[in-house]
Amino acid sequence: MSSGRATDPQRTGPTEKCGVVGVSLEEREAALPTYYALYALQHRGQESAGIVSHDGFQQHEHVGMGLVGEAFTETDIDTLHGSSGVGHVRYPTAGSVDKSNAQPFTVSFEAGSLALSHNGNLVNTTALRSKLAEKGHAFSSDGDTEVIAHDLARNLLESDLVRAVKATMERLHGSYALTVMHDDTVMGIRDPEGNRPLIIGRIDGGNVIASESAAIDTLGGEVVRDVKPGELVVLAEDGSGFDAYQLLSPDRTANCFFEYVYFARPDSVIDGELVYETRRELGTKLWEEAGVETDVVMPVPDSGRAYASGYQEAAEDVEFAEGLMKNRYVGRTFIMPTQEARERAVRLKLNPIRSTVEDRSVTLIDDSIVRGTTSRQLVDLLRDAGAESVHVRIGAPPITAPCYMGIDMADRDELIAAENDAEGVESAIGADSLAYLSPEAVASAIGTEQSDLCMGCVTGDYPYDIEGETTDRDVTTPVLDR
Ligand code: AMP
Repeated sequence: MSSGRATDPQRTGPTEKCGVVGVSLEEREAALPTYYALYALQHRGQESAGIVSHDGFQQHEHVGMGLVGEAFTETDIDTLHGSSGVGHVRYPTAGSVDKSNAQPFTVSFEAGSLALSHNGNLVNTTALRSKLAEKGHAFSSDGDTEVIAHDLARNLLESDLVRAVKATMERLHGSYALTVMHDDTVMGIRDPEGNRPLIIGRIDGGNVIASESAAIDTLGGEVVRDVKPGELVVLAEDGSGFDAYQLLSPDRTANCFFEYVYFARPDSVIDGELVYETRRELGTKLWEEAGVETDVVMPVPDSGRAYASGYQEAAEDVEFAEGLMKNRYVGRTFIMPTQEARERAVRLKLNPIRSTVEDRSVTLIDDSIVRGTTSRQLVDLLRDAGAESVHVRIGAPPITAPCYMGIDMADRDELIAAENDAEGVESAIGADSLAYLSPEAVASAIGTEQSDLCMGCVTGDYPYDIEGETTDRDVTTPVLDR
């Protein structure tokens, strides 16, 4: 399968695969629960972490680089006063490891203060930014979050909160799951396609909105429900509850399938589906569609674990072995900026247990192939450890196109499946056989229609209007007439 395209249309600003949280409590400091929630969302971003709180009079802010544990000291948390707070963890994007992109993004204006945490990526940032610049807005970053902040601030000068948010949402095109604090009012906003997850929870003394339910669990809270696509949820300042406003109503959603496949924590529930069970079901379908008889089934830790468990259960008579041991102190291989560093990192990270593979046929299971680095290295590793044959089974379809919706995947020229069909990738990674899961099986395991998912990185057809790309639906692009 070839896209025939050598380069991608320009993406604007940094892409944002991130974690967001917003907390509103009655008479209790919000900073500590916000901090713990960010810990629970650490997998969604390791470049920077930040919290902005509000004490009813003013904002307090701390943003630091690195992991949550590195970005904050106890003293930092102590200075973040107030019972309202928003937090953010940001994913590293090559070339933009830089504090100016760290969030929450804050702005003060005549109608108060705003703090925004954004997960996702707008695709009409340039048009929106130049419209706002014409009106005299000056920008300090190339990011889309600042553009949302300015647009919202402008609308808040003219109307009440709900109308202002609606007017801004009508001008945004793309992916956004936001936690926003206007003075000490905390709210959650999810784009009309519901591209990224956002969920509401009840915790002791108040309410929380977070990217994933695992954050609510971590705070010992109860999940209330997901923020609906196109919805604004405003948390009560006294911690008592929330108001919800369905501001935009799309005909179809475009939930990111990759959240289920890779990004979200397996213990999170997104739009009613437990991610772990979805992954096990994907594994079961992988056996049904592309099962191969071997002596042993082995997951790539940790990404392939739930898949391998579902696959092996369906296969019945095959042994399951954790044959690759992980060095948990090595970070995600993906964050290494150069290919050479990435290759070394796989060896640093994983080591085979010889007795589980020696003279045996092995099925290696993972969620996805992006550049092909992980699979190629692991096939080599297993052969070196004496495997008789290595078959690779992947729980997602081939990734053939970039993500414009906020996942730092890779460009087309780096994606191994952009120019190679399954046979080509099989030989590039040196496997005895390779098979992927079909898009239909992915939709069915998630429990939805393919037409309600964003699978742009698989099909090359996006649910948004992106210059230089094709779309899979009738998209109405916002008219920026104001
Ligand atoms: P690659 O080695 O480039 O083929 O990447 C595939 C491996 O990275 C798989 O083990 C995935 O679990 C993981 N992966 C896939 N997408 C991403 C991403 N956007 N960020 C970090 N890791 C990823």
